[in-house]
Amino acid sequence: MIIAIDHNSGFCFGVDAAVKKAEEILQRDGSLYCLGDIVHNEAEVNRLYQIGLQTIDHDQYFTLKDATVLLRAHGEPPSTYEYARLNNIHLIDATCPIVLKLQQRIRKSHEAGKDSKSQVVIYGKKGHAEVNGLVGQTDGDAIVIENPEEISKIDLSLPVELYAQTTKDLEGFHQLSLELKKGANQAPFKVHDTICRQVSNRIPGIRDFASRYSLILFVSGHQSSNGKMLFGICKSVNPNSKFVTSTEDLRKEWFDGIDSVGICGATSTPKTLLEKFADTLRQGII
Ligand code: SF4
Repeated sequence: MIIAIDHNSGFCFGVDAAVKKAEEILQRDGSLYCLGDIVHNEAEVNRLYQIGLQTIDHDQYFTLKDATVLLRAHGEPPSTYEYARLNNIHLIDATCPIVLKLQQRIRKSHEAGKDSKSQVVIYGKKGHAEVNGLVGQTDGDAIVIENPEEISKIDLSLPVELYAQTTKDLEGFHQLSLELKKGANQAPFKVHDTICRQVSNRIPGIRDFASRYSLILFVSGHQSSNGKMLFGICKSVNPNSKFVTSTEDLRKEWFDGIDSVGICGATSTPKTLLEKFADTLRQGII
């Protein structure tokens, strides 16, 4: 049986840098808090937990004092930094530079649009950590839209500035901007395509990869937005694509009559985990 790993899969540079930063501090200090899962991948979170990375949620964070906390690549709203300043919390800020830039642009748009009642609209997933960080730049004023059906939340007689969560799909974003343009009256309407190409550039490659093998194992955490999206792409070109999080998910019957397996994953899936799947198959341990 042919077993191939997609060489384009594995961490994007933002996640890679955050994980490296955590490893570096853990090696020095032995323990570290991380605000939220460092990456939407259970196996990687567990691996880092074993070497001292303790994940805390926002409720726990807002009770801390005199501590060191890592901020992951998704970024945080200003309230997180303000709390740190007032409570002697040393932040190790691993916010991805692309997300940081997006936060700054959104903050500027919000400030500049106050007089004209311009609305900042974010195409993204409500409650997602990155989106919370973006909405925080606007004092909670930004309107989050998940699909064109939610356009009614926007007052199209007023100016609109449309942004996107970095990991959203380009097609959905273009569709939304077209719908908004159609509905917009005379008011100014600006589209800022802020989708990270680290994700969207993987689409043509993963489409091609998924079409070349009789079975696709797509490795991702369930919470990963880009994981869901990239798995959808695999499934659309190869219906025999399986979403797996750990090697325990593998089922013997999937391999009946299969002569080739392609292993790929999300931008939050470590390469080492893809290799673990390949090794498991090579050793026939299912
Ligand atoms: S997907 Fe892009 S924006 Fe998000 S962490 Fe990775 S490199 Fe940064």
